[in-house]
Amino acid sequence: MRQAVFLERDGILNLCDIVNGEQVTPLRCERFRINPAAREALEDLKAAGFVLIVTTNQSAVSQGILPRRELERMHTLLFRQLPIDDIFVCPHADWTHPSCKPQPGMFLDAGFKWGLDLDQSFVISDKEADAKAAQIAGCTSVMVRSPWLGMEFHSFVVDDVPGAAQRILELLATNHPGNEAMHRP
Ligand SMILES: [Zn+2]
Repeated sequence: MRQAVFLERDGILNLCDIVNGEQVTPLRCERFRINPAAREALEDLKAAGFVLIVTTNQSAVSQGILPRRELERMHTLLFRQLPIDDIFVCPHADWTHPSCKPQPGMFLDAGFKWGLDLDQSFVISDKEADAKAAQIAGCTSVMVRSPWLGMEFHSFVVDDVPGAAQRILELLATNHPGNEAMHRP
């Protein structure tokens, strides 16, 4: 069984404009800006043996404002510029299916596809819903500080993506069992 790091896309791997306190997902590939801090962090995680899996909700697809073709162009760019292994996309706005992001089912699906030990896998995100899904799936969440973090669920909070990678590598080095941090008093 392999270990994975699941990565939120918007706000983690690519930079997003913020309008009225909300992240705005890019609708055209020309507006897709990869986070310059992500590459080295991901290379370090990759070198440590992690499978790197991007999970993203792109509800603009089902709303008809984000063409599939633009999304595919963005993700071709991600594969080209970052050492990622797979991208799971939920295109829905209502998240009713168990595999919809941010439901935990997407982690379970990826775990099945890639033969992952979810208890020994990690989630990097800046949104509370991902930390909640991580907890249900048995993953350890390392959250990048943001206005969308909430107070519960997350195992660790760091300042940026390199900080998240560093924390995961520290936990790996001390063979830290995934869920222990959440049960610590
Ligand atoms: Zn979905």
